[in-house]
Amino acid sequence: MTLQTHWTAICATYTPIQIELTGSLLVMLLTFYIPSTIFISLPYLFPDWSRRHQHQPPSKQPSGKDIFRAFTTCVRNNALTASLQALNFYLGGHSSLRITPTLPSLYEILWQFVFGLLFREVAFYLVHRALHHPLLYGPLHKKHHEFTAPIAFSAQHATFTEQVVANTLPILLPYAIIKAHIVSFWIFVGWELIQTVIDHSGFETGFWQGKSHDRHHEVFRGHYGTLGIMDWVCGTDEEGMRRRRIKGREPKEGKEL
Ligand SMILES: [Zn+2]
Ligand SMILES: [Zn+2]
Repeated sequence: MTLQTHWTAICATYTPIQIELTGSLLVMLLTFYIPSTIFISLPYLFPDWSRRHQHQPPSKQPSGKDIFRAFTTCVRNNALTASLQALNFYLGGHSSLRITPTLPSLYEILWQFVFGLLFREVAFYLVHRALHHPLLYGPLHKKHHEFTAPIAFSAQHATFTEQVVANTLPILLPYAIIKAHIVSFWIFVGWELIQTVIDHSGFETGFWQGKSHDRHHEVFRGHYGTLGIMDWVCGTDEEGMRRRRIKGREPKEGKEL
């Protein structure tokens, strides 16, 4: 049986809302909860190796109680997001995405992936930078910064407003605007979730913005984007922030505001 045959059978057996919610849950489990659990387990299973490969020293690492607190926030946020997804479906009468029996072509998946990456980089950067404004930081973003040494589960440790505006919409909107196929969207979501797990893992992996985002949590300012493009353009990468501090346009390193 080919993938197309499986997908056609799924579409014939289940309703679109069942497909959307179950598929989204599976993507979340496979690309967020399972990889996060692996990263969280490493310091317990391989303490010496972990000490050598973590960005920040053991003295700065969160306690087991803090890790559990981050995990429960993730579950709460994902449950609330799934409820919004279901509400949107019932109010609108259909999904924001295309759920049809024909799978998208590889070309369609690829160009939408590139479009999604660029859209998310710009949208997340702007929202994240706005969340560091003194009026918004305390009520909306301080919670995410409780982990100065981030761990995988702290990726979704955020207020529900931040979860929707910064974490969900910059990923959903580019695909909803073009009414992309839900399978194309799931591939992008899976990629983005793995990226955010690695970025918050606290480990040196050599992938993506891991070091930069860890630095953002450590010193609170700069490195607002996900790919590094917007930080380079707007002068909020490491070198840009150093120049801004010299000119007095940024508070001292390590100060939240
Ligand atoms: Zn931040
Ligand atoms: Zn973060």
